[in-house]
Amino acid sequence: MRFSALTLLRSAFNGQTAYPQQWRKAEPRQCYDIVIIGGGGHGLATAYYLAKEHGITNVAVVEKGWIGGGNTGRNTTIIRSNYLFDESAALYDHALQLWRNLSQDLNYNVMFSPRGVLMLAHTVHDIQSIKRHVHANRLNGIDNHWLSRQQVAEFCPGLNMSRDARYPIVGAALQRSGGTARHDAVAWGYARAASARGVDIIENCMVTGIRRGADGAVTGVETSRGFIGAGKIGVVTAGRSSQVMAMADVRLPIESYPLQALVSEPTKPVLDCVVMSNTVHGYVSQSDKGELVIGAGSDAYAGYGQAGSAHVTAQAVEAVCELFPQFARMRMLRNWGGIVDLTPDRSPIIGATPVPGLYANCGWGTGGFKATPGSGHVFAHILATGKPHPIAAPFSLDRFVSGRLINEAAAAAVAH
Ligand SMILES: Cc1cc2nc3c(=O)[nH]c(=O)nc-3n(C[C@H](O)[C@H](O)[C@H](O)COP(=O)(O)OP(=O)(O)OC[C@H]3O[C@@H](n4cnc5c(N)ncnc54)[C@H](O)[C@@H]3O)c2cc1C
Repeated sequence: MRFSALTLLRSAFNGQTAYPQQWRKAEPRQCYDIVIIGGGGHGLATAYYLAKEHGITNVAVVEKGWIGGGNTGRNTTIIRSNYLFDESAALYDHALQLWRNLSQDLNYNVMFSPRGVLMLAHTVHDIQSIKRHVHANRLNGIDNHWLSRQQVAEFCPGLNMSRDARYPIVGAALQRSGGTARHDAVAWGYARAASARGVDIIENCMVTGIRRGADGAVTGVETSRGFIGAGKIGVVTAGRSSQVMAMADVRLPIESYPLQALVSEPTKPVLDCVVMSNTVHGYVSQSDKGELVIGAGSDAYAGYGQAGSAHVTAQAVEAVCELFPQFARMRMLRNWGGIVDLTPDRSPIIGATPVPGLYANCGWGTGGFKATPGSGHVFAHILATGKPHPIAAPFSLDRFVSGRLINEAAAAAVAH
């Protein structure tokens, strides 16, 4: 069924009851050309582009829980492409271009909202660093603009512009084309569109082993629902990537940390852009439901506890109240954590591994939601052709041997 205004109107006459199951609940088959481990946004997007761009539909996405139950459904949904280095700028902007028409492409409303992302400067060093980003971005054709203190106050009237603040706001970078999207809808939209093209989406199916043949190449995956044969395997399991890769004796340069977020009670529209501050160490936006969505930092030590440490949450709330003192009267509804996969240079790993037929897409850490469409698109390319997509080539695993790192550690508003 195609969603459209006409469908909505037609369905109004039968109580909007005519909507079929959005994707098939597939049973595992004996063998697939490609098995993707991990039913988050990146895994599902990979499956969709394999089918759409390369005509490969004998594909299964194997998910241990429910699709989107990992970081895809736990993140604060900030989308932007204002990264410093040319390689990252190309990758994240590739994704941003795909976000623009994603709802139309998937025929599913992912609620992409390019409302503008403001990155605040509070010190002379912030000004220098942020302007460096602005100039680098503009050389790469990415929209990012420097705003004076006065322009910041006009663009985001709720901000605390007092000169008596601990860190007074002295300017900001604004990427107008950045914004937010609805995270669940991204997983659901890709699942629905991939399933419609013949991909099997297998939920409640945990991969417990990776089987290899005498030549060392992969032959399939052991799962909680039996063995599934595979010509190629793509591992897209975020915070669990090092554990899954260890099943094939591949050691990844990845550490997993809990990263937290929280939301307030809903309120009327008070904030119509995304505000980030590296210096006070927090960021905030307002969801369409009216909740303030607040991003906290990652824990200081590695772990798999999805709750995260309490003092990290407290620090995030303090930071946001420093930027918007009026929010101090709001109650927080809930907080949660996700396990993020951090590489030493805080850039992702996309490509082949030393094991024939085994491919990795991970290391997105605290910032991979924004990349979802681009990541799936370039990962599908290497799975289908065996050759890296030009945009993904710099993100190969061997950069940790060659030393050609892409250090984006300063790219986020919260330390990671
Ligand atoms: C609190 C928080 C805030 C964030 N905010 C932002 C943000 O504002 N902007 C941004 O761009 N990014 C953000 N991120 C990062 C972003 O969420 C991730 O980089 C991105 O969602 C990763 O997507 P994914 O599909 O790779 O991983 P996931 O969505 O985690 O999917 C991986 C899937 O693999 C499955 N899996 C794991 N092991 C197995 C197994 N053995 N067998 C089968 N399945 C398995 C998991 O169940 C999971 O569903 C945030 C993350 C968190 C936690």
